[in-house]
Amino acid sequence: MSRLLLLCLLPVAARAADYDLLIRNARVIDGSGNPWYLADIGVKSGKIAAIGKLISATADRTIDAANRVVTPGFIDVHTHVEDLEKLPRADNYLLDGVTSLVSGNCGGSKADLSVWFAALEKQGIGPNLASLYGHNTVRREVMGDANRPATPDEIVKMQALVEKAMLDGAVGFSTGLIYIPGTYSNTEEVVALGKAAAKHGGVYASHMRDEGTNVLKAIDEAVTVGKEAGMRVQLSHFKIDNKRIWGASDKSLALVEKYRKEGVDVVVDQYPYDHSSTNLGITLPSWALADGAAAIRERINSPESRGRIVKDMKQMISDKGWKSYEYAIVATFKPDTTYEGKTISEINLMKGRPATVDAEIDTILDLIVAGGAQMVYHSMGDEDVERILRYPNTAIASDGGVQQPGVGMPHPRSYATNSRVLAEFVRRRNVITLEDAIRRMTSLPARTFGFRDRGQVREGLAADLLIFDPAKIEDKATFPKPHQYTEGFDFVLVNGMPIVEDGKLNDTRPGKILRSIH
Ligand SMILES: [Zn+2]
Repeated sequence: MSRLLLLCLLPVAARAADYDLLIRNARVIDGSGNPWYLADIGVKSGKIAAIGKLISATADRTIDAANRVVTPGFIDVHTHVEDLEKLPRADNYLLDGVTSLVSGNCGGSKADLSVWFAALEKQGIGPNLASLYGHNTVRREVMGDANRPATPDEIVKMQALVEKAMLDGAVGFSTGLIYIPGTYSNTEEVVALGKAAAKHGGVYASHMRDEGTNVLKAIDEAVTVGKEAGMRVQLSHFKIDNKRIWGASDKSLALVEKYRKEGVDVVVDQYPYDHSSTNLGITLPSWALADGAAAIRERINSPESRGRIVKDMKQMISDKGWKSYEYAIVATFKPDTTYEGKTISEINLMKGRPATVDAEIDTILDLIVAGGAQMVYHSMGDEDVERILRYPNTAIASDGGVQQPGVGMPHPRSYATNSRVLAEFVRRRNVITLEDAIRRMTSLPARTFGFRDRGQVREGLAADLLIFDPAKIEDKATFPKPHQYTEGFDFVLVNGMPIVEDGKLNDTRPGKILRSIH
């Protein structure tokens, strides 16, 4: 370029607006937990460029946020969005204020994160995405669904895969110790694999071995992994899932606090509902689910092993404090969608069987042989849900996934986790303050998962921002009618780009892959 031409261009550049976007008159809830303050926010090149009284500033676009709050976009550290390529805009999350998703939880992730990340980057995604690397995934890669401890050689192989995943950008290592095949592991195996992730600063996120009678032991195990591997510990979807001991969250939270006082960095996350959601297989003893579908069918069909399965299932349901499977509701059952939304007890009657536990177990085993089902379980008590929410180190996280409207009867948490906290637990029940709720959706999870450039309204950080009137946030999704989007988030900005404007989604794809920085 000639010198003359360059000089000609300079005045044009100088006349450009100060900011790409200017948000005026906002009540800024910055994510730290501090009370809101009034300010203007200038956004430039995807970042928060200035906060203050920007009276004479110019911008390509100005949004007047008077009488509304501006908060950081929500960071949902517990999701299962391995199928994000199918619904890459993740509408249900964006409309609930979520601008960053962490997938790969409960021990289940993509086996090759580099391939997945590259494909999503090519395709374009709505919110930002990070992933953990899953224990069940790596164990299945190396050992299949074998019901035995790993050999030293297999540990080395798994460690190498964990390290590769970390170098590909995983933010940590997750376990799902009630699921196949992770449930067949011992603590030493998890510690050994955790060490491979710890070398690269990863967090340890655990769906613990037990969330009921043995929850304290399970917390001990997770903390042992954190201590021995040298990792921060995130206890996923913290709850008391056993009706017999509803109310015991005082003890489980006290144990978490005891470990924090001893210097272990352990925190928890929660979705604000009294129903959980997972597969139907968890109602069976884990030994019955080893070695893949054919082996499972064989055990169910052989009278001897079927007898043992039934005996164990009766013990399991009685340990949980239930007399029938009325607490177990089918969410998705592909072979017969008329079952969706019905309890196992109801389906059992539909099949013309007597209302006995034995008959209901037969019904469950039929469904398992037919390929299994995704379920919703009434497993928690209100007292525990509120107490866990009041605990200051509880982050808000959905444990949900991307949803196609009208498909199945999913848990409403995928649509409305954050709005339910804001509408029900902040506005209606006054359980926590608005500023504190925002902190648990933003800076708290950012801290634990190492997102240093997100989760607060601060100069220099990524401009993931929400503009809304807290009085107008409504969680619409319910158990009988889950496919309803949250209302009330007027603007959702991801990396400085509005993807929700006046409550409506547009077709931009501003999300980035958030690879951990080593
Ligand atoms: Zn889980």
